[in-house]
Amino acid sequence: APRLSYTHINIPVVSHLSQFVLFYLFLHPNSCSARQPYTAHHCSLSLSRARAAAMADAPVELPGRLAILPFRNKVLLPGAIVRIRCTNPSSVKLVEQELWQREDKGLIGVLPVRDSEAAAVGSILSPGVGSDSGEGGRRSPGGSGGESTKQDAKSGKEPIHWHSRGVAARALHLSRGVEKPSGRVTYIVVLEGLCRFSVEELNARGSYHVARVSRLDMTKTELEQAEQDPDLIALSRQFKATAMELISVLEQKQKTVGRTKVLLETVPVYRLADIFVASFEISFEEQLAMLDSVDLKVRLSKATELVDRHLQSILVAEKITQKVEGQLSKSQKEFLLRQQMRAIKDELGDNDDDEDDIAALERKMQNAGMPANIWKHAQRELRRLRKMQPQQPGYSSSRAYLELIADLPWQKVSEERELDLRAAKESLDRDHYGLTKVKQRIIEYLAVRKLKPDARGPVLCFVGPPGVGKTSLATSIAKALNRKFIRISLGGVKDEADIRGHRRTYIGSMPGRLIDGLKRVSVNNPVMLLDEIDKTGSDVRGDPASALLEVLDPEQNKTFNDHYLNVPFDLSKVVFVATANRMQPIPPALLDRMEVIELPGYTPEEKLKIAMKHLLPRVLEQHGLSSAYLQIPEAVVKLIIERYTREAGVRNLERNLAALARAAAVKVAELDSTLRLGKEMQPITTTLLDSRLADGGEVEMEVIPMGQDISNTYENPSPMIVDEAMLEKVLGPPRFDDREAADRVSSPGVSVGLVWTSFGGEVQFVEATAMAGKGDLHLTGQLGDVIKESAQLALTWVRARSADLNLSPTSDINILESRDIHIHFPAGAVPKDGPSAGVTLVTSLVSLFSNRKVRADTAMTGEMTLRGLVLPVGGVKDKVLAAHRYGIKRVILPERNLKDLAEIPAPILAGIEILLVKRIEEVLGHAFENGFPLRLHSSL
Ligand code: ADP
Repeated sequence: APRLSYTHINIPVVSHLSQFVLFYLFLHPNSCSARQPYTAHHCSLSLSRARAAAMADAPVELPGRLAILPFRNKVLLPGAIVRIRCTNPSSVKLVEQELWQREDKGLIGVLPVRDSEAAAVGSILSPGVGSDSGEGGRRSPGGSGGESTKQDAKSGKEPIHWHSRGVAARALHLSRGVEKPSGRVTYIVVLEGLCRFSVEELNARGSYHVARVSRLDMTKTELEQAEQDPDLIALSRQFKATAMELISVLEQKQKTVGRTKVLLETVPVYRLADIFVASFEISFEEQLAMLDSVDLKVRLSKATELVDRHLQSILVAEKITQKVEGQLSKSQKEFLLRQQMRAIKDELGDNDDDEDDIAALERKMQNAGMPANIWKHAQRELRRLRKMQPQQPGYSSSRAYLELIADLPWQKVSEERELDLRAAKESLDRDHYGLTKVKQRIIEYLAVRKLKPDARGPVLCFVGPPGVGKTSLATSIAKALNRKFIRISLGGVKDEADIRGHRRTYIGSMPGRLIDGLKRVSVNNPVMLLDEIDKTGSDVRGDPASALLEVLDPEQNKTFNDHYLNVPFDLSKVVFVATANRMQPIPPALLDRMEVIELPGYTPEEKLKIAMKHLLPRVLEQHGLSSAYLQIPEAVVKLIIERYTREAGVRNLERNLAALARAAAVKVAELDSTLRLGKEMQPITTTLLDSRLADGGEVEMEVIPMGQDISNTYENPSPMIVDEAMLEKVLGPPRFDDREAADRVSSPGVSVGLVWTSFGGEVQFVEATAMAGKGDLHLTGQLGDVIKESAQLALTWVRARSADLNLSPTSDINILESRDIHIHFPAGAVPKDGPSAGVTLVTSLVSLFSNRKVRADTAMTGEMTLRGLVLPVGGVKDKVLAAHRYGIKRVILPERNLKDLAEIPAPILAGIEILLVKRIEEVLGHAFENGFPLRLHSSL
């Protein structure tokens, strides 16, 4: 789309602007009331100006010649203010030469022209340019205006019908717009009408017209004389009375103080007439007639008529509104009464629909298509129900049970259409960035299903930290298969009954989550996501995992037995997909039924791409915004990733983007309401303007609403671009920075480890300290058995090698003599376990005993044997990614983890020095500045 950019000139606004705007606002009360504070402010301002103008009231110096701007089917009256947009070359030229480029902004003439079809046949006058003879005859004061016709000979276009009277105008504001890329120039001009003139001669000058003009308004002395005329005095009085009445009516509606009334006394009445009429919406003909009313008496009586008509229309409208309001309240009352009646009936138990209910239930059961043996079972239950009274215990539970049976999808399936692998791939690609291997595996899975629809393929299990797209991949599978999707959350499920339901003998018994889920999707072949399958645990209430085993076993799930349902239900058509944060806690038997697809975290670069391509558009859409309103530049998204999120997935990133969108939505909604207000005030809406522009219209008019920045009304609201300052305002101060590691290892005894959690890789600091004691080791930080043993091991190794490590002069000195050691793993509330902290523990202890700080830019992971060998560990990719997120530059890894480096994206590897080690001594060498020298003589 072409873009317009505008430059502006503001010309100091004087005189009538304020009067007109004040009246305009006043006569359009809707626009006024909402802007009350504004209006009040401007009123006082306007009044003083109005008074000044009225007192000075210097007649305008009308030059002999005026450049003529034609107004198509529109009239500018003295005292009115319009905004016009000049697009056609001739008016653009005119504005450029007469207004834009000139130092002293002079006057221009505004002359109404009539479309040919609208031309009144009688009054068209002699064709030809500047026909003096034609003009001469129509100078009679107050006569109906004449028109002349100009034939555009060259192009043979329709003739232009010029009106012979116009209004001199001055520009209050100019905007010059250059359309890109065409370079076309347009102008937006705000014009104020000043005084009437008559055209003596019209000539073309270059691409626009210039007229010789003569003044129509009376001189001061003439005016003073005319004001003595008793007829005029009577007419003035009548006009003022009507105007006053209109003002009173409007004031009643608006409940404003009567400042507008003061205007009636300060502004000369003949000018008031124009100002009032200009602010009404009246036809072109009537506007022309008003323009032609040069004679004051004619003008006043015409204005009185128009004001009166406006007054009457307001009164009629008022009456209608009142009537409608009356009717509304009547129907509202009726509604309320009906509601009450229903409540009373309920209270009295006047409902005899119970019998019908059971019949309806039976019908529903018949339609459910359940197998014959279950149908028999259900019938028996129904017979029992029939014999019961609704108040009887067991009635409602029996009914709820039958409702469930009737609702279950015994037969209903989602229609599976021919699986289109290409479409599935496209859809996967469209919704997910990267993940090439994962997507490939899903396509393979789908392909097998396509070839052998009832194949008992393995259950896919996506394993990875939160927010990496596990759920969203599962929904994509459902989409590709054209099946419904249901997510069953297993997080925290400890009770077998959650899966399998409670027996109905329990009070408040319920079906298990699977059956409940099937009832909710109401088809028996959905894609069912067993979410967080690793979070099920077993305790005294049974083992949910064994129930799940049955669910996932193709041999057994044909007759899945829910305790509540108590009849077998066939789960074999369900497509199961599972997710887990970690593989470890999943019972091996369950794991055996599943095919694990790992989704490690994303690199910052991947996150950036995901945010720009997927998250941002979605977030904007969810908040009813578009890039026309809010733009978050890539650099800013990068900042969010670096400073506000430190996660493997993109969930917090999405949340932060949503927070920005919410903040923007508030701003846009506010802006929107002011803009809309503006539009209401304008008789011609923008769409209308646009369509007229498309018609090649010459000029557009619009009455300017007050208080709005004139230069902005035409341009699109410029989008809000998020910058760093806004980021801090909305999201708060940055939550993470690269200095964290440096701050934490500022004293000896602290080392930087890398661990693997259900949230992906993490940096784990290990703190050790010594105190007076008896040689005990204290461990804190919610540690598991394995990690506790690692700590023992580490201490033993350090003690055994204390002499080699220069921690003691000889190997027979106990470095723990009368000392206790305390090792802590922050954060203290998060449970931790696993062997991979071995090297980190040793480093921390060595640092403590040698009183040397470890390097803040180096993190490590690795299991250690008693003899000091470093064994490989899991989750290397996640750990390296975590190190990268923390801004760590060097990572010490077991040599046998070399193969895992292939999984790490090259840009990340390029920024991190990987140090592969076989023995713990090498770890120490890398972990300290300038290495860690060993005493060679006693190496074991
Ligand atoms: P999980 O189930 O792994 O916790 P979700 O599937 O709920 O994560 O994903 C969180 C959000 O991140 C979703 O809005 C998802 O669409 C988006 N997302 C995650 N990975 C990608 C990706 N590779 N491309 C596009 N969007 C992604």
